[in-house]
Parts: sequence; structure tokens; C-alpha cells
Amino acid sequence: MNTKIWLSSPHMGGNEQKYINEAFAENWVAPLGPNVDGFEKDLEQFLGENAKVAVLSAGTAALHLALIECGVQHGDEVICQSMTFSASANPIAYCGGIPVFVDSEPDTWNMCPKALREAIEDRIQKGTKPKAVIVVHLYGMPAKMDEITAIAQEFQIPVIEDAAEALGSTYKGKACGTFGRFGVLSFNGNKIITTSGGGALVCHTQEDKDKTVFLSTQARDNAPHYQHSHIGFNYRMSNIVAGIGRGQMEVLKDRVAARRAMHDFYLDAFKNIEGVTVFSEPGNDFYSNHWLSAIIIDPQVTGKDREGLRLAFLEDNIESRPLWKPMHLQPVFESSPYYGGKISENLFDNGLCLPSGSNLSDDDRERIASVIRNYFGV
Ligand SMILES: *Cc1c(COP(=O)(O)O)cnc(C)c1O
Repeated sequence: MNTKIWLSSPHMGGNEQKYINEAFAENWVAPLGPNVDGFEKDLEQFLGENAKVAVLSAGTAALHLALIECGVQHGDEVICQSMTFSASANPIAYCGGIPVFVDSEPDTWNMCPKALREAIEDRIQKGTKPKAVIVVHLYGMPAKMDEITAIAQEFQIPVIEDAAEALGSTYKGKACGTFGRFGVLSFNGNKIITTSGGGALVCHTQEDKDKTVFLSTQARDNAPHYQHSHIGFNYRMSNIVAGIGRGQMEVLKDRVAARRAMHDFYLDAFKNIEGVTVFSEPGNDFYSNHWLSAIIIDPQVTGKDREGLRLAFLEDNIESRPLWKPMHLQPVFESSPYYGGKISENLFDNGLCLPSGSNLSDDDRERIASVIRNYFGV
């Protein structure tokens, strides 16, 4: 059997272990210490825009705290992009809230501004003004943030930006994760950089960052004994994990370049195959880290489909995966309201994510290209 080619696997830079060794040497084996501070500073410098970053145990934890800080409580409605990973929506349920799902638009595969407006206006008419909007930058592709923030501002609803897949992406030159009231980052094992598991909440005031750190470390009031006037969480990132993050930040720019090169590789691999579209930026305002490269296969034109290609890859021990199945089609969210048409559903039916790691070799790429040639008979 050929060695397995993964969709996206961890790719260490070399200095991660050095930061971990320092933590051991100084006994900072705790959810605080120089690596936590250093990783936050690295992220703040990378993002710019006066970002204030709190590193946490997961991107999911960051979303949960963002919703709490937006005041989401039991019974509140929160608008969420339907086409995404379930972790974008689950924290709404943690708060006892009700997700209201919104369709994507075809340019970026992200939240459709028209459907967003329709959702907000209809919910307000029904007497429940949404408490927040969660927009996602899918596979690293920036959403249409100008349109979305303008609509949210018109109705005075805070935007939470799920940039878990988009560290290193920009929209109009500005880093994804810095547009909303809060931005969410993830350093899970499959993301563009990884700490094995971890996340961060991007804030814009010291007050919001302090509140995030306070809530993530059990919400302990300022007193010599343990005194609490809020419900707290154990969501802070450990100093060991943050050491991996500091090492990864040293190579983030290289990782973005390598993922973007994989996107170019697929543009070339599919250039003579009619009916296959490689997911690409719709214009110069959009700069994707191309965390995952993805394609849409038109079965009418190609006589082929995404499941056939997936199985052909699998036969050669190459991982590929259908696009995210929209949340409004998930059994667990059956009863949630939905606004939009069939854009995300069609993307799910015909789309496939392809191996995109920054650590793939020329041999790996040749194996991938050869499966593509054989499957489409070119
Ligand atoms: C990975 C991911 C998350 C969750 O991040 P974790 O760090 O795994 O908790 C949230 N949203 C999206 C879109 C993701 O891809």
C-alpha cells in the first residue's frame, strides 16, 4: 500500500520543542507563563489592527466566550452561516440559544448578504431580534465583510468572525479575524498552523481581552480567598501548548505560501478538464490562505461526480472529503429556522476538498495528479 496522503496534517517548523523545553526548564507547566504571553504577542503583531488576543483551549471555546460576551442567553437567537463545521454553531446551543441559519453565496461560498438581511428583517418582524451574527471564512476564503458588517451595523447586531480556517487570509488588505466585534482562531491538528489543539479569541479592547481571560480562568474575583460573582470556564491555553504556537508562528508565512502553491497546483491539474472549477478568489479584494483546496464537479458536463473521485483517491490511499454539509440539513439542527436557497446544498452535493498540506512532496503531487488524469481520462 502506498503511504497515506492526508487532507491536511501537522507541519512543525523546528523551534516548537525549544519553547517547550524552556517551559520545562523554568517549571512553567501551567495555563500561564512566558509562552502564553509570547504567543499572544506574536498573534497580535501578525494580525495588526490593534488586535488584543486571548489564547484558549480551542476555537470552539473562543466562540462560546464570544457569544457570552455578546450577551447571548437562554432563548436568544443567533444568526450563523449554514455552510460550516458544526463547531461554528454548537456554542449557540451551549448558551441555550437558537441558531438561525443563513445560506451562502456562490462567489466566496460564505454568508450571503441578501439572505442575511432577509433573516434579520424576518426575525425582527417575528419579535426576536438576533443577538449576534456568526460569519465564517470557509477554507480560508474571506467572506464579503463590507456587505455583512454594513448590514449588521444597520441593525446594531455584533459580528463574530469565525476565522478558524483563515489565519493568514486578508480582505481588502486587512487580516481575517479582525473585522468583527470578536474573531475566532483555531490551532487544531488539521489547521494551517497547529498547537495540537487550541484556539484564540481576537478582541479589540483591553477590557474585552481581560474579560475573556477572566472567564476562561474560572471567573475568580479579586480577593485572597476564592470569590465568584460570574460563572467561569476552564478554557485558558496551557503554557506548553503555547510553546508549540510560538514555534509555528515563526513559519506561518511559509505555510500560507505552501498552501497557496497547492491551489496553483490544482489550477494546473484541472486546467484541461471541462466542468471542474477550482475554488478561487472572486477578485483582488480577497486573499485566501487556501487552507484547503476544493473543487466543484459539474456531473452534467463531466459525466463524473465528487463521490467517484473521492473513491478513486481512496483507492490510492489519498484522503479527500466532501465540503461541509450545511447545518440546516443536519438532523441535530432540524428545528432551526433557515433563510436562503440551495446554494450551500448544491456546493455540498458537488464539492470535494483535496489534499492541501504544506508538507506534501513532489512525489505526493504526482500521485494526486495521476489519480485525477486517470479518473477524468485525460
Ligand atoms: C476547526 C474549526 C472550528 C473549531 O476549532 P477547534 O479549535 O477545533 O475547537 C470552528 N469553526 C470552524 C469553521 C473550524 O474549521
